[in-house]
Amino acid sequence: MDGTFNENDISHIVEADKAHVWHHLIQHKPFETNDPRIILEGKGMRVWDQNGKEYLDAVSGGVWTVNVGYGRESIAKAVYDQLMKLCYFAQTGGSIPGSLFAEKLIDKMPGMSRVYYTNSGSEANEKVFKMVRQIAHKRYGGKKHKILYRDRDYHGGTLATMSAGGQDERVMQYGPLAPGFVRVPHCMEYRAQWDLTGEEYGRRAADAIEEVILAEGADTVGALCLEPVTAGGGVITPPPGYWERVQEICRKYDILLHIDEVVCGIGRTGTWFGYQHYGIKPDFVTMAKGVASGYAAIACCVTTEEVFDLFKDNAEDPLNYFRDISTFGGCTAGPAAALENMRIIEDENLLDNCTSMGDRMMGNLEALMEKHRIIGDVRGKGLFLGAELVADRKTKEPVPEKTIAQVSAECAAQGVIIGSSNRSVPGLNNVLCFSPALIATADDIDQITDAVDVALTRVYG
Ligand code: PLP
Repeated sequence: MDGTFNENDISHIVEADKAHVWHHLIQHKPFETNDPRIILEGKGMRVWDQNGKEYLDAVSGGVWTVNVGYGRESIAKAVYDQLMKLCYFAQTGGSIPGSLFAEKLIDKMPGMSRVYYTNSGSEANEKVFKMVRQIAHKRYGGKKHKILYRDRDYHGGTLATMSAGGQDERVMQYGPLAPGFVRVPHCMEYRAQWDLTGEEYGRRAADAIEEVILAEGADTVGALCLEPVTAGGGVITPPPGYWERVQEICRKYDILLHIDEVVCGIGRTGTWFGYQHYGIKPDFVTMAKGVASGYAAIACCVTTEEVFDLFKDNAEDPLNYFRDISTFGGCTAGPAAALENMRIIEDENLLDNCTSMGDRMMGNLEALMEKHRIIGDVRGKGLFLGAELVADRKTKEPVPEKTIAQVSAECAAQGVIIGSSNRSVPGLNNVLCFSPALIATADDIDQITDAVDVALTRVYG
């Protein structure tokens, strides 16, 4: 750290936090005896906590966000300059960075054409749900309104996105949920529901979606919402054949395909978007976390000109437009930061770096799997990887949840912050998650996997 904080400042910050902050996604009882970790500064791949301890951040800000790393002066400057020029005006009109970022984004998304600005991943997904519902009313008398979502996928914390939530623990006790959301089976070869592998498994898992569509009635299903690679649900990569068949099914039944790229979008898997690995053509793409690498809040729903055309003025229906607004979708800091974020990714060849460093990390994790029988599976794409820990490789029984916490704590003790999947099913919080910034070097990758090696040895022997 640069010495800007003195001891008094720090103890005040910790006390204020403990007295008044309600942290996300965790229980607070432990803070009665232990202080929460408060990150004071970041630079590149590294962050420093209130005790001056340095960490290599292997999870890009905890939740797959800071794709270009910390302390980027050019993004801070782009935001500053834009704020001094114009901080905000509602998106009922336009702005310079809003126009320029939309143009640049669409350039990376062949087949797509329109960008709707919002400010969180949940909100972006919810906007798409509204568009799908409006299309159902416009074209199908309201009938084709159901939205399919997949077991283990996550789309956000609002009521409608929770209704499309495939992680039970995050949904239970928040009901009643919104009607019209229907779950389809997950697609995870490691914990396969069918005795098939590779392409055969992928096609079978997609066929299971078709079975749900037929059971519900295809004329009631408006859209299918999926993560390209499931993130918090356990870093689940699709088997070959899955996405091609999913697209076929959507076309067959006139179902709009909504890809939630909130985690995968903007380079995380080595292409601009995760879906671009699979040659599919979505109708909607939503994105958030990496869009401006956390330097400003921005999220986008992107769609085709064909969908957009449905919402254009129509003399017979004066209400034929998307009757929605997101106040902070008009903040200019978001697209200003996003433009500069994208320039950095291009100029520094970070997509290529993501692919090669992702390959290195996958190789390292495979080597750890040879050494530690506790690792049942390793999977991922680009710099978006996971290692599933099991008590028994044959039965695939997950390790107890507390041991994942011990492994993470042992990594943190060595100065490496790693993540873990969410407890979608009690007992299945057993995936170590890695998503370092796209600027990671070979040394950074090796430092992360070396720490995991030591942590696994300490915890499991
Ligand atoms: N979609 C996915 C795949 C996510 O992982 C998340 C958050 O982790 C969201 C949507 C929700 O994004 P936000 O927290 O910005 O609302």
